[in-house]
Amino acid sequence: MNIAARDTKPDTTGLDLDGFARGLFIAGQWREGRGSRIPVVDPSSEAVIAHIANADVADAAAAVDAAAAAAPGWAATAPRKRSEILRRCFELMTERAEMLAKLISLENGKALRDARGEVAYAAEFFRWNAEEAVRIVGDFARAPAGANHIVVGYEPIGICVLITPWNFPAAMATRKIAPALAAGCTVVLKPATETPLTAYALAALYREAGVPDGVVNVITTSTPGPVTSAMLADPRVRKLSFTGSTGVGRTLLAEASKSVISCSMELGGNAPLIVFDDADLDTAIEGAMVAKMRNAGEACTAANRLYVQSGIYEKFVAALTKRMEALAVGAGTDQATECGPMITAKAVAKIERLVDDAVTRGAKVKCGGKKPSGSGFFYPPTVLTDVPADAEMAGEEIFGPVAPISRFDSEDEVVARANDTEYGLAAYVFTGDLARGLRISRRIEAGMIALNRGLVSDPAAPFGGVKQSGLGREGGSHGVLEFCEPKYVAVTL
Ligand code: NAP
Repeated sequence: MNIAARDTKPDTTGLDLDGFARGLFIAGQWREGRGSRIPVVDPSSEAVIAHIANADVADAAAAVDAAAAAAPGWAATAPRKRSEILRRCFELMTERAEMLAKLISLENGKALRDARGEVAYAAEFFRWNAEEAVRIVGDFARAPAGANHIVVGYEPIGICVLITPWNFPAAMATRKIAPALAAGCTVVLKPATETPLTAYALAALYREAGVPDGVVNVITTSTPGPVTSAMLADPRVRKLSFTGSTGVGRTLLAEASKSVISCSMELGGNAPLIVFDDADLDTAIEGAMVAKMRNAGEACTAANRLYVQSGIYEKFVAALTKRMEALAVGAGTDQATECGPMITAKAVAKIERLVDDAVTRGAKVKCGGKKPSGSGFFYPPTVLTDVPADAEMAGEEIFGPVAPISRFDSEDEVVARANDTEYGLAAYVFTGDLARGLRISRRIEAGMIALNRGLVSDPAAPFGGVKQSGLGREGGSHGVLEFCEPKYVAVTL
């Protein structure tokens, strides 16, 4: 492990934090919340870097009022005009990429190189949806019985409540906001409490890009349950788009059912990464490093269980251990850092619990495996081998830099083990045999499969899971339709 010297003071990397908004963004205005302000902590140093506004139920109602007031005008805005505003959001994000990356890195802790990648990915949702905004086409058909015609158009679904997690503070928000706006909807975004500064910085940017007041509203709160329930009970709200844990997703689905609100759910994952004997070792190691270590393992798509076939097992373990123990661990804002801290002390405690449990059940530690002392929420890159099937980490998201490897022999065996989970978000398969790769891809119960690569996310592709990893898709041509209602008109010509 290679942990850089750490300080208890945050390195703000030249950002003037006082220049960033911390108020609620409602109807284009910055407002104080009714609750007492919430501290934001730099996970690299544990220092408080800002205090943000705290919305209560009445503030949330004001945000819905603003979204409702702006809704008719935005829905009536010509698709081309909406498209041009979205395109401008893309351009401004791209121009300010370095500032946004530093802000993400500071409040989330991720390495700057990961934060830069996130900004580029997040901005692409605006470019992609600028292109989608003018291509939401309907249908015209003759009814099979011949008596009438069927005319189908797509209308904005209505006011949307968007809730996002801390692990991709920019991208999880733009992956919802951009298609919602392309469809003609207005929104209230509630970002994660740990990483609000990016959401607020982006709100200011949208306004500058020409997004009219009230079309995007952003509120932070220390009471997400009551605040969200109040918004979902408002009959004007017609859509909930949530990204976060499966547990909170279940609660919100139950809450949304009371008003029969359309739900898109991007929930937890437990991705298997499978390496067959015939895989190219370098490709598999490179892919595994990306699939496991992007965002220091704090990704829903992170490889959570590595299954390696017996013939390549020893070589794979040796090569992966070498790469993992060479990673530079440090503050995300440090240019040299390759693995930043976890988001909170609680996240580190969870990883420690899962590693201890696996070791108690017989797993072997090849590198890492012990929390360092000092400030910051750090956990070292860790490789475990011989992880038994009953280890808690086989069924639970680790959400950290731990690679648990186990051995397999046959295709049937590994497919059964890969599918033995309530989750079904992403999976990774490495093989030199394309037919086998496609065959395994079809058999694995996941919404997304990466074949001989470590990254699946692409704004032009449908992102989402099956089983308890979620409902609906974001990105591709599917993403914008999550924010539309088909309207059918039967007409006799
Ligand atoms: P989380 O605890 O479920 O929180 C996600 C969001 O929900 C946050 O904004 C949180 O607010 C809010 N929230 C929490 N309890 C709520 C409640 N009772 N009512 C309304 N909102 C509530 O998840 P997380 O720890 O931030 O993120 C990690 C999880 O997200 C992992 O499971 C990961 O797999 C998943 N994820 C999935 C995807 C995907 O695309 N499938 C992408 C990224 C992450 P507070 O911050 O105030 O608690």
